[in-house]
Amino acid sequence: MVTSPFLGNGPSVHLTWKELGCKDGTPYPKKFILDGRVFKLAAVFEDIRGIWNKPITIHSAYRTPEYNKKIGGARNSQHVQGRALDLAPPKGIKLDDFYNKIKSNASEFGIHGLGKYTTFVHVDIRPVDRLVVWYGNGVKDSATA
Ligand SMILES: [Zn+2]
Repeated sequence: MVTSPFLGNGPSVHLTWKELGCKDGTPYPKKFILDGRVFKLAAVFEDIRGIWNKPITIHSAYRTPEYNKKIGGARNSQHVQGRALDLAPPKGIKLDDFYNKIKSNASEFGIHGLGKYTTFVHVDIRPVDRLVVWYGNGVKDSATA
């Protein structure tokens, strides 16, 4: 299990370093912890989770540049920057409802990138002052968003 030597199991109550790490086993980068972005991302996660107060599965969080390329991820992916999460709806919640609730709260939560895919929703905290929205339809979507 990936842990930080100085922050326990994760950056927030319901989010672990293991969930934030790359699927290839690379831990979430320390530099993104030290510059504070992980806490903004964790706050977004907790805000979303708090809407339903139910567990949310993370399909994808941090990706190394190599792993992102291997799975066909978008160039300049926010996942490589440690600023993105691909989230599955809580049990019993439809994807449309999950997406719509997140979208209506995006501004308040500090979400700046929002993508709707067939089985999950991508959220990110890219450093722009607006909300970028798109729709994905790829078969490999859980890997590529
Ligand atoms: Zn994504």
